[in-house]
Amino acid sequence: MRPARFLALLIGIVSVSALDAAPPDPSAALVKAKVEAEYPSLFGIYTHLHAHPELSFMEVKTAALVAGELRALGFTVTEKVGNTGVVGVLTNGTGPTVLVRADMDGLPIKENSGVAYASTDIVKDLSGKEQPAMHGCAHDTHVTGLIGTARTLASMKDRWSGTLVLVAQPAEEIVAGARAMFADGLYTRFPKPDLAVALHTTSLLAAGNIGYGEGPRYASVSSMDILVRGFGGHGSAPHTTKDPVVLASQIVLALQTIVSREIKPGVPAVVTVGSIHGGLKRNIISDEVKLELTLRAFDEKVMAHLVASIRRICDGLARSAGLPDDRMPVVTLTPESIDVTRNDPVLSRRLAARFGEWFGDEKARPVDPVMGGEDFSEFSRQGVPICIWWVGATDPARIAESERTGVPVPSNHSATFAPVPEPTIKACVTSMTAAVLELMGGRVSR
Ligand SMILES: [Zn+2]
Ligand SMILES: [Zn+2]
Repeated sequence: MRPARFLALLIGIVSVSALDAAPPDPSAALVKAKVEAEYPSLFGIYTHLHAHPELSFMEVKTAALVAGELRALGFTVTEKVGNTGVVGVLTNGTGPTVLVRADMDGLPIKENSGVAYASTDIVKDLSGKEQPAMHGCAHDTHVTGLIGTARTLASMKDRWSGTLVLVAQPAEEIVAGARAMFADGLYTRFPKPDLAVALHTTSLLAAGNIGYGEGPRYASVSSMDILVRGFGGHGSAPHTTKDPVVLASQIVLALQTIVSREIKPGVPAVVTVGSIHGGLKRNIISDEVKLELTLRAFDEKVMAHLVASIRRICDGLARSAGLPDDRMPVVTLTPESIDVTRNDPVLSRRLAARFGEWFGDEKARPVDPVMGGEDFSEFSRQGVPICIWWVGATDPARIAESERTGVPVPSNHSATFAPVPEPTIKACVTSMTAAVLELMGGRVSR
């Protein structure tokens, strides 16, 4: 190729790529610097929260910490919303009202992560029972992220305008905290948001990475109890009894046919019997067996199908065992149930574009939804568009090893789950700040 032609081609390539690339967002560099400066203090908050988890609706000290931080930054703070929830409002001129939610509760797990700041606390649960506790779902990173976001945004009020509502929510793990805050007037006592956002830290992505998507992100969850009843008696005389252990076993196996035989292939649904308890002694046929189930789906009709099929199978098998009407299994849906968490497509695309710009497409990318449940779905009440995204927490080398060996990394809710703090916390603060700046006019003052 002649030198002149080569030069022309090179200029062509350079000019095309210059046109393709969006101008860098100056807010990104500013936020990066602020997050760097805040990190030592945020790490201190994180390790304190991690070492001292509080269980659902018992997040008194965590809530006080959030309230104090927000008050010091100029937010109008209301405590004890929905039991232990905190709402901080910062009005900064005219513009949209954007709500940011972080959940606060830990889990009744004895931590075995090996980190220096692991929890050894024994705490009371809501019923007063003493339990080991652990931030096994990384809600401590969410609280730390909320505080970091508040600090960052409070220091750059020239780059956004509107009303910012920060919510520290209790009791997500028992999917009761959001409902409690709404019962206490979250959208009536405080500015109703035009948009609501949240993040969740996950073991499934490399630390510092962002996973996003639109539509269903978390499944609907129904929790079900089944009391299988029979007629007890001596273990040596089964012919004088109706054995509920045998009937419960048949029910557990028959339930496995609902998803495999009744739900259209490819439609996500889960029926899990997580607990089965019956009997006291080997030579006694018991009177009853208790089953606890969790059901998951991305569609209300599919969930209704699961529930109806379980009732039908319980009833049919009990009748085939010869039980009378007054000893039919008792099937109960518990309040520990929640709707699908559905990301608004327009809102999700806006945030995905901003994340791509700030984190790069290598680190911020679309990911599949999960069958877990999230009570952030409650925030979509009254037509409020919502979006939740994931922040990775696991050492990238461990993710790569897991992909190579097929051995899963410790998941959220595992006693050995330990987020890598620095990239995780920085990504929590940076992604949440990026989202708020996207929604509250961060580009206006460019
Ligand atoms: Zn959880
Ligand atoms: Zn969680």
